[in-house]
Amino acid sequence: MTQTTSQSTFTPRVFSGIKPSGGLTMGNYLGAIKRFVGMQGDMQTIYCVVDMHAITVWQDPAELAKATREVAAGYLASGLDPAQSILFNQSAVAAHAELGWIFNCVARVGWMNRMTQFKDKAGANAEKVSLGLYAYPALMAADILLYHATHVPVGEDQKQHVELTRDIGKKFNHDFKTDFFPETIPVIDGPATRVMNLRDGTKKMSKSGESDMERINMTDDADQIAKKFKKARTDPDALPDTMEGLKDRPEAKNLVEIYAALDDRSPDDVIAEYAGAGWGKFKPALADLAVAKLSPISTEMARLMDDPAEIDRILANGAVKAREIAEPILQQTYDIVGLLRPAR
Ligand code: ATP
Ligand code: MG
Repeated sequence: MTQTTSQSTFTPRVFSGIKPSGGLTMGNYLGAIKRFVGMQGDMQTIYCVVDMHAITVWQDPAELAKATREVAAGYLASGLDPAQSILFNQSAVAAHAELGWIFNCVARVGWMNRMTQFKDKAGANAEKVSLGLYAYPALMAADILLYHATHVPVGEDQKQHVELTRDIGKKFNHDFKTDFFPETIPVIDGPATRVMNLRDGTKKMSKSGESDMERINMTDDADQIAKKFKKARTDPDALPDTMEGLKDRPEAKNLVEIYAALDDRSPDDVIAEYAGAGWGKFKPALADLAVAKLSPISTEMARLMDDPAEIDRILANGAVKAREIAEPILQQTYDIVGLLRPAR
């Protein structure tokens, strides 16, 4: 499978990343990591811990280093195989920042102004947030296009940024009369592309959300998982027999979709099994399933976190492999733009 444009052919390649902006959540696992791992072997896969994105909001330096290793541990514990996938942290490959600057000069301010995530994250405080938070989608475009990635698996919340990546690549190609960058495809599939907050079914579950009760952390133990599902907001009604019956019940729909994603089943299949059940039956079943699926991962994460040098070694090896792909693409970009640099 290759993507062909008028002048160039791109081999299929997957890129995606996760910010070390806090501990991993079940949303990151179901919406991102589990799906990333599932793509291994089909195409070349490159997965990143995007630490430069994390610092768009304040991060304590010691916590940032720990969270970077924890995201790497989360990938590895979930089945990412460093022999099959390239795993590294973004700041270790300087070409991300370098291409990011070029894309800052390609992207338009008007495009950035339409990014809903910036509006959500900046809120009423837009004058006081960092310039990096505003510009971050241009760096994300660089992360992806630096590898000529054709496929980007993400959760629903990142769809707009992947579309912006396409716009930036197209504008670059148009301005410089080239076909250098591919048209990246966002891959948003499965039952858990937008896992919602357990306390408010209109907001997504996030690492950086305010309350710990609104999310399941990948490091939560069985008691915490059971307590959080027990206290998860729902409505008084029993479960209907089809997903259609949940269309105006966001919290209930979310819990059924989480169940389906954890158990590798369709939501229709899960709702058929639990038709007529009340929360007293469904929530404990969901908690048991979550513990069964997540606790082997959290145990393995804890084991890996006990050996930070091993994580650092895996990330360093990944960075070497990432640079091998990224460097020639950056150098060609510089040539296209007309940036002179000393011969190497
Ligand atoms: P933050 O609150 O700091 O933005 P986050 O939990 O949103 O953290 P990111 O690092 O921004 O995590 O996103 C990493 C990946 O996880 C992205 O592909 C994103 O789409 C996906 N993701 C994040 N939250 C969810 C969610 N609730 N459901 C499904 N996918 C999600
Ligand atoms: Mg996010």
